Amino acid sequence: MEEKLSFEYAPAPESRALVTIKPKYGHFIGGKFVAGSKHFPTINPATEEVLSQISLAGKADVDAAVKAARKAYTTTWSKMSGKERGKYLFRIARIMQERSREFAVLETLDNGKPIRESRDVDVPLAAAHFFYHAGWADKLEYAGLGTTPKAHGVAGQIIPWNFPLLMLAWKVAPALAAGNTVVLKPAETTSLTALLFAEVCHQAELPAGVVNIVTGDGSTGALIVNHPGIDKIAFTGSTEVGKIIARAVATTNKSVTLELGGKAANIIFEDAAIDESVEGIVNGIFFNQGHVCCAGSRLILQESIADEVIEKLKNRMAKIRVGDPMDKNTDLGAINSKEQLLKIRELTAAGDSEGAERWSAPCDLPGKGFWFAPTIFTGVTQAHRIAREEIFGPVLSVLTFRTPQEAIDKANNTPFGLSAGIWSEKGSKVLWASQQLRAGVIWANTFNKFDPTSPFGGYKESGWGREGGRHGLSAYLKGVSHE
Ligand code: ADP
Repeated sequence: MEEKLSFEYAPAPESRALVTIKPKYGHFIGGKFVAGSKHFPTINPATEEVLSQISLAGKADVDAAVKAARKAYTTTWSKMSGKERGKYLFRIARIMQERSREFAVLETLDNGKPIRESRDVDVPLAAAHFFYHAGWADKLEYAGLGTTPKAHGVAGQIIPWNFPLLMLAWKVAPALAAGNTVVLKPAETTSLTALLFAEVCHQAELPAGVVNIVTGDGSTGALIVNHPGIDKIAFTGSTEVGKIIARAVATTNKSVTLELGGKAANIIFEDAAIDESVEGIVNGIFFNQGHVCCAGSRLILQESIADEVIEKLKNRMAKIRVGDPMDKNTDLGAINSKEQLLKIRELTAAGDSEGAERWSAPCDLPGKGFWFAPTIFTGVTQAHRIAREEIFGPVLSVLTFRTPQEAIDKANNTPFGLSAGIWSEKGSKVLWASQQLRAGVIWANTFNKFDPTSPFGGYKESGWGREGGRHGLSAYLKGVSHE
């Protein structure tokens, strides 16, 4: 079954010389780079090489950033016409495109994801978010969001490490289009593209203080969440931290959107196109090392086709190229951090001890860095931790079903509800299933497709509110329901 490839790809590494990484970074506050006081290292997870020293923002830095954002809001940004704001967003989008190779290389070095993904997915989509929202800036009155839509003021935004630049774009673009100013904190392991984005804001001559970037860990995030000068919080990250944030803002006037975890079901009905489904399953869980909150981490297979699909899937998994993320041939890169690798190991060990059967693709993992081979668990039951908890790694849990209703019941049996996939050649079955599934995004005969025009967000513990599209925009305007 494990056929060997008849040929090997020659290495095709992207050039690291495309980026200049400073030995040390500060924060971007009030249009200027300011030195930080404490620092921590950011590393390349594929090699464990220290790339740079990142500043850990404390109270004084966050205060300064909020003050700069407030000043920019009251003196400049809230007074500017939507048309003028839109011009800045277009300018930022164009500069991101011009500097796309730099962004892609930096993202891959700092995050561990394959250059092919950062180059073809993260960076183009990030620019697309700015282009899309640039078009909204002068049309807010006509968006069906009230006759005089008004910005919240200062938005505090906290993002994770799985799509660092893209999550920044999801947050900053609608905030600015709607007329807010921003204090953004990237995740502690992936600050570099946010700091390059600060340079882009400078290059675009964005008025000082409209975008402020402070780096740091959860303690910096908490300072932003609890800051009295912030009007709106937008967070993407774990459900655990999302709950802390929800509690912290509950007694305040802050508006909040949360995009949290997921445990997406990818349902394959017996009438699905099998080969296409196998490609979709692979894309659903192994894209970005499974570091995707909407990853199709639970495969729900109709029993009659289960053996065939699993065999084809293992064959396909054996051909996934794991290794140097800077190589343009690489399919699966490094796990973003040691902590994340330990979490994946802990949950997969629970899979073994609870009785599921593990199979990992045969591949040589590099000696240094954080790596996990593409893995599939069969014989999984709904009670197993690997069927219930978010693994956030290249690990697929397989469950089976006999009737369509059983598939839906199993898919919905989760505290999450971010996304789901349905594979069937029968349109009526796809429509029926999509109406039964409690998930914010449902893909049919495809998986992990994103577009700035389409709202994204979850049910239940997967979060509050939507990002993207007109729905996402409304979350940055006062008094407009964002559901
Ligand atoms: P993950 O498990 O994906 O790393 P986290 O929720 O821990 O997700 O982190 C997502 C973002 O939230 C990061 O930028 C992190 O620094 C920040 N963060 C962590 N803890 C807190 C907190 N208590 N308050 C605010 N932000 C936090």
